[in-house]
Amino acid sequence: MAIPFIDLKTQYQALKPKIQERINAVLEHGAYVNGPEIAELEKKLAEFTGAKYALACASGTDALVLPLMAAGIGPGDEVITTAFSFIATAETIVLVGATPVYIDIDPVTFNLDPSKLEKAITKKTKAIMPVSLYGQVADMDEINAIAKKHNLIVIEDSAQSFGATYKGKRSCNLSTYGGTSFFPAKPLGAYGDGGAVFTNDEKMLTVMKEIREHGSEKRYYHTRLGLNARLDTIQCAILLAKMERYPWEIEQRQRIGDRFNQAFSELKVKDFSYPKVLTHNKSVWAQYTVTVGNRADFQKKLSEQGVPSSIHYPHIMPDQPWYKTLLEKTHTPGDWTNARWAADHVISLPIYPDMDAKTQDQIIEAVFKALK
Ligand SMILES: *Cc1c(COP(=O)(O)O)cnc(C)c1O
Repeated sequence: MAIPFIDLKTQYQALKPKIQERINAVLEHGAYVNGPEIAELEKKLAEFTGAKYALACASGTDALVLPLMAAGIGPGDEVITTAFSFIATAETIVLVGATPVYIDIDPVTFNLDPSKLEKAITKKTKAIMPVSLYGQVADMDEINAIAKKHNLIVIEDSAQSFGATYKGKRSCNLSTYGGTSFFPAKPLGAYGDGGAVFTNDEKMLTVMKEIREHGSEKRYYHTRLGLNARLDTIQCAILLAKMERYPWEIEQRQRIGDRFNQAFSELKVKDFSYPKVLTHNKSVWAQYTVTVGNRADFQKKLSEQGVPSSIHYPHIMPDQPWYKTLLEKTHTPGDWTNARWAADHVISLPIYPDMDAKTQDQIIEAVFKALK
């Protein structure tokens, strides 16, 4: 049987009665928007991360737009972020009218390199948006310290790191705001789009709640510009069912990630590296991403052995055509040497909680063969 890149079918089979029961409850009570499952999920999400508040929203993208809007970031403002992420990171900054300022990554973790931060700060800088890429949290202590010194807010793009820990604390609760995604392929996925914002600030929670609902303070009374950024009740119901199994799934991901790392540490091939998780971090392994010299050849050889792979991401954000044009109007290009190198060499292998030992063996063997 062909190996899937992510196996959501086995997961569904394991959770089927619970998911169906939860969905049926929504179909019966009929509150398809703003149903009681929303508050129930938000409470569970907050408890899970340790944050005071969680706000469910329509996508990971909205989970970044909401705090940006709530913080009043807009035209004339700059937000510093990494050069190497999924495009939604930069997109949200541009959507509120601000300008993304991209800095290079640390070549080991692929996350924003905090030593590059201070040089990028100007009078216009309002926020830093680090990304906890592939499930490993960025260096939040360093980032928060610099933010504090310059009076900036920090929004962690934790779309790939819900469930990861940094120095024993959960991702999403490490800075002013954390925004995660429940896109089906993320570590905790809904059966459609979804996301959540986390904060410890009650006032900002209220502001974001209003923005989520067309900027309304009460029904048909709009005190601010808003969005329709609500999460459907059915998606909340599905996530509630999936949350019960999530701690086990995280352990499984970590077991498999560690097992791959152990196996690949035996590989004495130059031009190949397996993911390094820093000792203070616990990755949630949203992706298992290696680097290899001849990526096209490696990918072909894996494919011939029935092992799918994916490239996250083939281009850095400031090189994306639309963003490049925008950048040319505002800034001189930065030095994104490490990010560009990553874009040319990274490749992600299958990883998912229900992967059995035999499949793990097959993947390990295929990698060894592909590099021979
Ligand atoms: C998936 C993702 C997003 C956007 O989440 P959506 O739910 O797809 O809107 C943002 N940032 C990163 C790093 C992501 O991986």
